[in-house]
Amino acid sequence: MDGSRTVGTPPVLILLGPPGAGKGTQARMLEERFGLVQLSTGDLLRAAVASGSEAGKAAKSVMEAGGLVSDDIVLAILRDRLAEPDCAGGVILDGFPRTTAQAEALDQMLAETGQQIDAAILLEVDDVKMVVRIAGRFTCGACGEGYHDTFKKPKVPDTCDACGARQMTRRADDNAKTVMSRLDAYHEQTAPLIAYYADKAVLRRVDAMQDIAAVQDALAALTQRVMA
Ligand code: ADP
Ligand code: ADP
Ligand code: ZN
Repeated sequence: MDGSRTVGTPPVLILLGPPGAGKGTQARMLEERFGLVQLSTGDLLRAAVASGSEAGKAAKSVMEAGGLVSDDIVLAILRDRLAEPDCAGGVILDGFPRTTAQAEALDQMLAETGQQIDAAILLEVDDVKMVVRIAGRFTCGACGEGYHDTFKKPKVPDTCDACGARQMTRRADDNAKTVMSRLDAYHEQTAPLIAYYADKAVLRRVDAMQDIAAVQDALAALTQRVMA
């Protein structure tokens, strides 16, 4: 990558990394800071499950088991979301793509609108850290703000700092059994994307073992360079 981007096309950033790396936390912060829209396929799939749609019904058991939902379902959901007007200012893809087929389909989708990937940023954490992060994760059910039992506690217990709601929720798939399946899925199906994006010269690496603020600083500096 030569550091320059095609003028006039909205930025497209990808956050890559295992479950618990901090993709959602960091994407949310970048969204606010740079006016980009966070697209989380995990959030979109959980909404589909909650709505009881056909796609949601098919995704539910796969998500509960810690596997990957089929490319067809994920791509249809992503394509619809990407076409919404708020995405015209640029997006951060969080948790997508997760397979080589998804990455190839994304390249094709972007080519149709003359867009390209500006950076695929790998959040690097080891497997032990990832398990600790997932075990302590909880989320505000009202606004989606993420928290952690040890690393990011709300100022007032059980009360969201961002919106004041008292509706903290824990994900059904954040349990010890499912975590190992999700980690396997990452290593087997998603990790090959590191080489995929390195070959395209858009891969960037961030040390995600650091605390939330330090990771955000590194990501913000990178994003600033990419968007310049
Ligand atoms: P992902 O979207 O990659 O699965 P999350 O952003 O949901 O990961 O983060 C997983 C958990 O770890 C959350 O509870 C979050 O508050 C916490 N967390 C995220 N980044 C860090 C970090 N750098 N240090 C410590 N805890 C973190
Ligand atoms: P995490 O970052 O903790 O793995 P996500 O919210 O990104 O959590 O994903 C939760 C689950 O949703 C995954 O375990 C998987 O079943 C499904 N999922 C999310 N994104 C994708 C994707 N791009 N392809 C296939 N399945 C996905
Ligand atoms: Zn909230």
